[in-house]
Formats: sequence, structure tokens, C-alpha cells
Amino acid sequence: MSALLTVTDLHSHYGKSQALFGVSLAVDAGQVVALLGRNGMGKTTTIRNICRMMRATSGEISFDGQVINAMPSHRAARLGMGLVPEGRRCFAPLSVHENLTAAARPGAWDYAKVVALFPRLGERRDQRADTLSGGEQQMLAIGRALMTNPRLLILDEATEGLAPVIRQEIWAAIRALKAEGLAILLVDKSLREVLGIASHAVILERGSTVWQGAASAVDTGLANRYLGV
Ligand code: ATP
Repeated sequence: MSALLTVTDLHSHYGKSQALFGVSLAVDAGQVVALLGRNGMGKTTTIRNICRMMRATSGEISFDGQVINAMPSHRAARLGMGLVPEGRRCFAPLSVHENLTAAARPGAWDYAKVVALFPRLGERRDQRADTLSGGEQQMLAIGRALMTNPRLLILDEATEGLAPVIRQEIWAAIRALKAEGLAILLVDKSLREVLGIASHAVILERGSTVWQGAASAVDTGLANRYLGV
């Protein structure tokens, strides 16, 4: 397997306040990688850097062999990164169909394929995004990212705050995406679900990568030490 995304010794600041002190990780084509760590350890900041929404102070981010540190976010997205941001942002006044088609780029993922993955979205085709339930908005946010036909899907807390039955629907969709061979970088607090899907895990503590290895090797000892479980 070849590395699709590589992050090497990433440092990053919010103004004068340093948030990342050496994050390294890699996602190979077709691989699902879990990015783990307690609250405030730097997961979202790492994702903001990968998606070029924030500037790295030092270190290197490369995607498909190209260094993207200085690239603006719209160009990074065009290279094939699909972000589902924390807080499931959709365009509130637009309908489900409009939200999806506005994001479309050529490829296998189109409106029909997204509603086959999330039938609820098809049932709500002409409903405004801001009238959807939280779970439906999350499905729409994932659908929007898929409509860009990404080579890497980045999910930041995709099941946060949702009812158990909806979470299960979203986990089933993520498993289906994995089975299709989509590379995924996954941040989520449901450790059991994440480790059941990811093949590899990266643990952050205070803005640094402190452990990485097979997801199956994240045992109770590691979880106690780094994840507060
Ligand atoms: P959570 O699970 O709570 O989202 P996280 O692992 O994603 O946590 P980050 O949100 O990346 O962590 O936060 C890393 C550090 O950066 C924390 O110390 C946080 O307080 C700080 N930080 C995050 N966002 C900002 C911001 N907009 N301005 C200043 N500091 C920030």
C-alpha cells in the first residue's frame, strides 16, 4: 500500500498559543485510521491543518506525494480530501437535494448513490437542511463530502450527540465506505466502534503523537493511560 496522506512532525499555533508539538501520522490508500486522544489533545487542530484551514508552524503535510503545506483549502479539497467537520455544517436554507448537488464533483458518488447509502435523505429530498434532525444533518454532511468524490474522507466526531439508533446507521454507512476501499481518517469518542472499523490507530497527547500501531493493539492499558477510559 502507498501512503495517501502523510503528516510529519507537525507543529501549529493559535496566535501565540501552541496547540501541536509534533504530530505524525499516515493514511494509506484504502486504509481506515483512527485519530484518538482525550478532549483538547489536538485532533481537530490536526484535521484543520490537513485540510489547510490553519497554517502549520513547521512540519510537513503531503497528499498523494505532493507537499500541501502552503496550499489553500479549496485546492486541497480538489486534490481529493472530503471533510465532515465537527458540528455537521450544511447550508441551512438549501434543501437536501440542493446541498448535495452544490457539492458535486465528477466521479462514482452522485445523488442516487448518496441516497442509496442514506435512504432518509432521499425521503427528505426537498426539505430545508435546517429542518432536519441532528442525525439527518450528519448524514447530509457526510453525503456532501462524498459528493466531492474524495480519495480520503475525514470524519471529525461524526456520531457526537446522536441517538444510539442513528449512530448505528452512521457506523453501518462508514463500514460500507470502508468495504468500498475508501481511505478514512476517523475521530470519534466511541472507542469500541472506531477500533472495530480502523486497522490503524494514532494517539495524541498534548499535541504530540505518543503512540501509533495496529488498532487491535489498543488495549485497556493504552486506553487507561491515554484515553481516560
Ligand atoms: P476535542 O475532542 O475537545 O474536540 P481535540 O483533541 O480535537 O479536542 P483541539 O480542538 O484540536 O483538540 O484542541 C487542541 C488545543 O488547541 C487545546 O488546547 C485547545 O484549547 C486549543 N484550541 C482549539 N481551538 C482553538 C482556537 N480556536 N483558539 C485557540 N486555541 C484553540
